[in-house]
Amino acid sequence: TPTIGVLALQGDVREHLVALASADALARPVRRPEELAEVDGLVIPGGESTTMSKLAVAFGMLEPLRERVRAGMPVYGTCAGMIMLADKLLDGREDQETLGGIDMIVRRNAFGRQNESFEASVEMAGVEGGPVEGVFIRAPWVESVGAQVEVVATYDGHTVAVRQGNVLATSFHPELTGDHRVHALFVDMVRAAQ
Ligand code: GLN
Repeated sequence: TPTIGVLALQGDVREHLVALASADALARPVRRPEELAEVDGLVIPGGESTTMSKLAVAFGMLEPLRERVRAGMPVYGTCAGMIMLADKLLDGREDQETLGGIDMIVRRNAFGRQNESFEASVEMAGVEGGPVEGVFIRAPWVESVGAQVEVVATYDGHTVAVRQGNVLATSFHPELTGDHRVHALFVDMVRAAQ
């Protein structure tokens, strides 16, 4: 059974811990480098990426996180977590740091004011049994991707889920739906990497 951490600096940590446990992983919160060293994979939750970025610096987590991502640790980011995994941002704050890991440009708050929060069915490659219910909350989208990046889902013409190697990201929040198929996909990725 893989041990999977949830980055617990800020955001909807508890929902991810529950979803991971339902998908047969040992799930635990990760705040410090020593805790990061003990996990086989990591989820970066939704929340507010500017705050998460600041706290990662304050907790001395930015470089340890970057190092593990570079070393090939499987990571799954939802919403703000997707933003953290982008090599480049549009509409990011000036001092906003990301970990990188996916060769993509992500636009923060892309779906705009009319549509700050909505749900939509999303067909996701690698997830069997029909579309997942995507919960989008001030969600980013992926503006463009490099050649190594697989587009896993689109909604309304925009890329909302991507994968590059062991790194997966979605604009939406499967942890809020009670449907744990996306977490199960990630747990399988962690198992395959072990
Ligand atoms: N808009 C947030 C950000 O820029 C992300 C929102 C979310 O994670 N639900 O970080």
